[in-house]
Amino acid sequence: MSDTPQDYASATAQARILAQALPFLRRYAGATVVVKYGGAAMGDPELAETFGRDIALLKQVGVNPVIVHGGGPQINAMLQRLSLKSEFIDGLRVTDEAMVEVVEMVLAGTVNKQVTGLINNAGALAVGISGKDGGLIRAKKLTRTVKDPDSEIERVLDLGFVGEPSAIDARVIHALTGSGLIPVIAPIGLGNDGHTYNINADDAAGAIAGALHATRLLMLTDVPGVLDANKKLIPELSVTEARHLIADGVITGGMIPKVENCLEALGLGAKGAVILDGRVPHAVLLELFTEAGPGTLLHR
Ligand code: ADP
Ligand code: MG
Repeated sequence: MSDTPQDYASATAQARILAQALPFLRRYAGATVVVKYGGAAMGDPELAETFGRDIALLKQVGVNPVIVHGGGPQINAMLQRLSLKSEFIDGLRVTDEAMVEVVEMVLAGTVNKQVTGLINNAGALAVGISGKDGGLIRAKKLTRTVKDPDSEIERVLDLGFVGEPSAIDARVIHALTGSGLIPVIAPIGLGNDGHTYNINADDAAGAIAGALHATRLLMLTDVPGVLDANKKLIPELSVTEARHLIADGVITGGMIPKVENCLEALGLGAKGAVILDGRVPHAVLLELFTEAGPGTLLHR
């Protein structure tokens, strides 16, 4: 019990914050929110614990969170420990049979259970699965074409078992959320050829958010959101504006697939997608339950 004036003041402040959240709690009650979790937010133990608690809180207030996680650094660390050497074609890593086995081991094993544990430790019930479970993610081989600078002839590169989602069967997600459980998904897919494919977590999150017609797709990353040419945060972007920023070279590198997957999710029926800074504690709560709305909201 708090009985000093200070305790009472801070308790009152806390009560006020809860009261202010009411309209937001109403807005998102029953909503499906897909969260792409990775990068910096995943590497820092304190941030990771906070993330797990935030997801448990979402569930407690009636939101249906669906988590899709990455794990590139953890895969690289394991490849090193196993002294597996990578083959590169034109600077792009080839994922061979041995490597995709490690990818699956790390993503669907260690990392998937770590993320599940974060949420379970916070008192909610999360279930870790990979895109292979329940036929969730059907994968098709990703092909890259490069143009030879001298002859201008296009060549198709075979990068091995790297894929993209070709179809999503959301039944396993509905089965879990329908039982009050939180799905935690490792981005691995099964190809029609029976092979396992490594899928970029942004691609998996976008396809799943689209298939679920999610109210929100939240892409946690290591920058404040989409930045303009002067490195200033852009709070809101329409589909057309986003396409222009890619064409103009303002959006480059890893931000291109992130934005493209947000647009893809919107096209498939997601209501909104937000790219936000996972290094900020409580990024997910700030976005959903306050007026602050950090990051960049992409909408139709
Ligand atoms: P993640 O691990 O979250 O997928 P990525 O490194 O793949 O992160 O993608 C985010 C990166 O995209 C940023 O760190 C930044 O370097 C780069 N980037 C390129 N263009 C932009 C832009 N216009 N606004 C923000 N970030 C950008
Ligand atoms: Mg990336």
